[in-house]
Amino acid sequence: MLMLEAGRKYVPESETPMFQTPDLAPLNGAGTPDKRFDFYDATVDGGWQVPGEPYVSSEEPGARFKWWRARMLGGRTNHWGRIALRNGPYDFKPHTRDGLGFDWPIDYADVAPYYDKVERLIGVYGTSEGLENTPNSPEGCLLPPPAPLVSDLLILQRARRVGVPVIPGHRAVLTRPLDFKNSPALLHPGNVKAQRLIAADMRRRAACLWATPCNRGCSIRANYQSTTVHLPPALATGNLDIVTDAMVSQVVMGRNGRATGVRFFAKTSGDKTRGGETRGVEHEASARVVVLAASACETVRILLNSKSASFPEGLANSSGNVGRYLMDSVGSSVEGQVPLLEGLPPQNEDGASGDAVYAPWWLYREQRKGQLDFARGYHIEMGGGRRMPGVGTMEGTEWLTGGSYGRRFKEDARRLYGSFVYFSGRGEMIPNDGSYCEIDPVVKDRWGIPVLRFHWQWSAHETRQAAHMQTTFTDIIEAMGGRVKSPAITDGARAIGAGGSIIHEVGGAIMGATPQTSVTNAWGQTWDVKNLFVTDGAVFASNADKNPTLTIMALAWRAADHMVAAMRRREL
Ligand SMILES: Cc1cc2nc3c(=O)[nH]c(=O)nc-3n(C[C@H](O)[C@H](O)[C@H](O)COP(=O)(O)OP(=O)(O)OC[C@H]3O[C@@H](n4cnc5c(N)ncnc54)[C@H](O)[C@@H]3O)c2cc1C
Ligand code: SF4
Repeated sequence: MLMLEAGRKYVPESETPMFQTPDLAPLNGAGTPDKRFDFYDATVDGGWQVPGEPYVSSEEPGARFKWWRARMLGGRTNHWGRIALRNGPYDFKPHTRDGLGFDWPIDYADVAPYYDKVERLIGVYGTSEGLENTPNSPEGCLLPPPAPLVSDLLILQRARRVGVPVIPGHRAVLTRPLDFKNSPALLHPGNVKAQRLIAADMRRRAACLWATPCNRGCSIRANYQSTTVHLPPALATGNLDIVTDAMVSQVVMGRNGRATGVRFFAKTSGDKTRGGETRGVEHEASARVVVLAASACETVRILLNSKSASFPEGLANSSGNVGRYLMDSVGSSVEGQVPLLEGLPPQNEDGASGDAVYAPWWLYREQRKGQLDFARGYHIEMGGGRRMPGVGTMEGTEWLTGGSYGRRFKEDARRLYGSFVYFSGRGEMIPNDGSYCEIDPVVKDRWGIPVLRFHWQWSAHETRQAAHMQTTFTDIIEAMGGRVKSPAITDGARAIGAGGSIIHEVGGAIMGATPQTSVTNAWGQTWDVKNLFVTDGAVFASNADKNPTLTIMALAWRAADHMVAAMRRREL
C-alpha cells in the first residue's frame, strides 16, 4: 500500500502543544489568518486559504462556499471536534421517506457492523438511548460518557421543559483504556497478525486526562486522530509506505480502461521559483487499485482533472455527476448568559472539550404530521463551563457589563466567567442542482493544476431549519433563566452559515444504484473504472444531520473489505 499525502509529515508525540498555556504563545494564542482557530490548534498547515492553492467562489451571501483544507498527515482528523454519530436507518433512505434528494444504495444494516468496528477501534464515548433514528450501539462498542458539567446539567433539566431531549454526547475520546483483550479478534477475525498489532497499539493508548483542549491533538493518544490511531498500527504491518508532500494531480489510465496509477508533484523537490518555493518534480506511481480519499472536493478535483480521450469530461463522469450534489451541514448558533451559573466555586472544567451532552433531532412525529415548514432535522451541540481562560474569554461582554473597565471589569469578569452557554445546530441539507463544483477554466494552483470553482445555493428547507434553530436555542436559554446575546434571527437566510462553513462538506461523487444517476456503486467503486475507488465523503448521497466522519470511516472500512476480497478472487 502506498499512501500519497499532499501535506507534510506530522508527529503528534513531539509536535502536539498539549500543555502549553496561552501566555506562552504570540498574541496570547489568539487566532491569526495562518492559524485560524488559535495558535495551538493542531492544523500546522492549511485553513480557509492555502497559499498557492486558490479556489473560486462567489462572495455573494447565500452563494458563497468556503473550503477548509488541512495540508498535513492525518488531515483534519488532527483537530476535528471528534463528535462521532452514526447515521440512522432513515438517513440512508431519505427519498423514500419524503420524496426529496436521493436514497443510498445501502441500508443502515449494511453499515452497522462497520460502525461497530470503528467505534471499537477508535474509542467513542456515549450511550445507547433507543431514540428514533438515533441508533444504539451493541454492548461493548461505546465507552462510558464523562460526567456532565454544571452548565450541562442545567441545560439538560431546562431543555426538557421546552421538549428537547438532552442525552450524553458521542465523541472519539477514551474515557477508559480500550478493550485490547477482546476487541482485536472482533475487528480482524481470522487475521492473527492484525489482532496482535492492534492489541499492542490499543495498550499504548492512554485514557483522557481531562485537562487539555482536544483541538490541539492528543500526544497521549486518548482521542482519535488518524496520525495516532489509524496510521501507527498500519505502518507496523510493514505493508504501508507513506510519501508526504506529494500532491496528486490526476489518475493515470491504461489502454484497457483500468487505472494504472496516479501522477503527483513531489512538492519539496525541483527548482526554486522567484518566490523561493520549490516547483515540485512530477512523478507517477503505479497501482493495481487506486483509491481516492483526498477529502470530498479534492477527490472531485482529481477526477475532473483526469481527462483523456475516453473521458473528455473527467474520469468516472459518464453520468455527468462528478462535482454535483455538494452538501454541507446547516449551521446556526445562539449564545446566552445564565445568572444561575454566576459565581460558582472555581473548578477545572476543561475536560472533554465540549459536547459532553447533545440533543438528537426530536421532532420526527411533528414532521410526519406536517407541523414543520421544512424537511429533515438537526441535532444540537452545546457547551458552557469554565475552561482555561484565553485571550477572547471576556470579549464582547459589554451587553452585560455596560462597558465597565478597571477593577469593576475584573469583578464583572469573575462573576460572569463560566455563566455563558452556547448552542449550535447541525442540520441536514438536501442535495440540489445549484450546489456543485467544477474546474475553473482559467485559475491554476502553484503546480499548474486547474482549481475548483464552487456554486452554492440553500433551499427553503435549510433556511427555515436555521430559523427554527434560532428560536429553539433562544427558548432553551430563556428556560434556563438566561438572556440571549442577540435576539433570535427569524430570517433563515440571515441565520444560516455560509456553505462549507460547518466543514462537513460531502457529495460530489455520490454512490447510487445505477451508473446513469451516480458516480460509484455501493462499495465506492466507480461505475466507469473498475479498479478506482472513492472512500471519502464524496460518495455521500445525502448529508444527514449527523456529523459525517464516523460514516466516512465505516464506509471506507467496508470498501476496503470489498477490495481485498475482490483482489483475492483476482477480480481486481
Ligand atoms: C474544526 C473542524 C471540526 C470538525 N469537527 C467534526 C466533528 O466533530 N465530527 C465530524 O464528524 N467531523 C468534523 N469535522 C469534519 C472532519 O474533519 C472531516 O469530515 C474529515 O476529516 C474528512 O476526512 P477526509 O479524510 O475525507 O478529509 P481530510 O481530513 O481533509 O483529509 C484529506 C487528506 O488528503 C490530503 N490531500 C488533499 N488533496 C490531496 C492531493 N491532491 N494529493 C494528495 N493528498 C491530498 C490532505 O492533505 C489531507 O491530509 C470537523 C472539521 C473541522 C475543520
Ligand atoms: S482532553 Fe483528553 S482526549 Fe482531549 S487532548 Fe486532553 S487528554 Fe487528549
